[in-house]
Amino acid sequence: GPSIVWFREDLRVGDNPALLAAREHDRPVVALYVLDEESAGIRPLGGAAHWWLHGSLASLTTDLEDLGVHLLLRRGPAEEVVTELADELDASAVFWNRRYGGAERAIDTTIKTTLRDRGVEVASFAASLLFEPWTIQTGAGDPYSVYTPFWRACLAAPPPREPLPRPRTIDGWRGRAACNDLADWQLEPTHPDWAGGIRDEWEPGEASAHRSLKRFLAEDVGDYDEGRDEPAQDSTSKLSPHLRWGEISPNAVFAAAQERRKGARGSTATGISRFVSELGWREFAAHVLFHAPDLATKNWRSEFDAFPWPPLHRSALEAWQQGRTGYPMVDAGMRELWATGYMHNRVRMITASFLTKNLLIDWRLGEQWFWDTLVDGDGASNPFNWQWVAGSGADAAPYFRVFNPELQAKKFDPHGEYVRRWIPEIGTDDYPEPIVDLAETRRAALAAYDVVKRSR
Ligand code: FAD
Repeated sequence: GPSIVWFREDLRVGDNPALLAAREHDRPVVALYVLDEESAGIRPLGGAAHWWLHGSLASLTTDLEDLGVHLLLRRGPAEEVVTELADELDASAVFWNRRYGGAERAIDTTIKTTLRDRGVEVASFAASLLFEPWTIQTGAGDPYSVYTPFWRACLAAPPPREPLPRPRTIDGWRGRAACNDLADWQLEPTHPDWAGGIRDEWEPGEASAHRSLKRFLAEDVGDYDEGRDEPAQDSTSKLSPHLRWGEISPNAVFAAAQERRKGARGSTATGISRFVSELGWREFAAHVLFHAPDLATKNWRSEFDAFPWPPLHRSALEAWQQGRTGYPMVDAGMRELWATGYMHNRVRMITASFLTKNLLIDWRLGEQWFWDTLVDGDGASNPFNWQWVAGSGADAAPYFRVFNPELQAKKFDPHGEYVRRWIPEIGTDDYPEPIVDLAETRRAALAAYDVVKRSR
């Protein structure tokens, strides 16, 4: 029977070790994607993520067809779907690239055991991270809990492998098998169609990912170190959703950055270093998740369990979600998120600090909103960064560091360009009054934090 390549968070043809292994295996190859939002512990995707997945699968289908490989789409608990398909096709082997979430790993381990017991060859590969989580440890053999020594250890480890070549042709399996129609999955919104702004901003798929990388390294990297904190200057790479869905590998991004570094000086050289260290934060978040699989629900620092969150003030949460808090930098960010499925990193920090510290709303509710609305909503980076801002996470900002959204706006949007882009009614009566007082709420947050400190 054929070899099956099971695609998951690696929706690309280039630098894909599982696909190359199948090609080398001398059996015809068929590809599979399973939409699994049912298995225990698997977090159903948010709306914006569904939109992205639709585009990415459409693009992958075409890219694979060009190589002669058919992508089968099936839906259901992965354990059932994958083992049944292997039986149905009498598959000789199943290949995939690894994932690092707890529930995902448990599923993959079970499938591996079941298939091997049935005589099916199974092999998994490293493709979504630069460094496998179990290879980066402190001298004492523990995971790192602070970014700087973590990234230093990564850079001292054997370097990430070079991206693998893109196959030109593959001997595709010619048999027949049931396949869902992508449209039937209804991943795109219809009534109402809220994705207009997302569609204008983004193009999912591998080709688009490589174009973004090229553009960034050719045009923007020189402004990155200076401009990356100013949301009005579009000087960041906008690679996050492409990396999230594996349309481009971190190895490809890393290698292109190293190549660009050759002979680079001044702001280009500093921009590249800074950019590569941001890839390091992505690695750190994934490694932290690997060691703390409950990252999206559980305080990484358990002393935060004592934090006295007041009863939820639902209208405050809604004002935050809808960008109606009366604080322009917060509202601009929340509206950018709703309109485009993305928010600039600096503004993500400001809006998250405002929710957790000025509104005293549990970080998990903010994390969940981002998960639903971000096109790059990631099982590691999203909870990791929320906990970082909230103060409960690994290498977190100290809790008493409360961003003042007005000072942040002065510093990072000095001409008010970003705020005006998203709040056309700014300065008129239509714009709401501030819903809370910054100084008062800051004091309340610090008093609540005292409870955590005392419980230690
Ligand atoms: P660039 O500045 O060009 O950075 C390059 C790449 O580095 C990014 O594409 C991303 O993969 C990685 N990166 C950069 N900063 C971080 C970071 N702080 N943590 C992890 N990786 C990083 N990023 C996500 O990819 N998914 C999320 O769900 C997510 N949720 C976040 C929630 C909060 C509250 C905060 C404060 C940050 C979050 N981030 C998340 C991190 C960061 O905001 C985005 O990765 C970044 O804004 C993406 O834009 P870019 O691709 O232009 O970034």
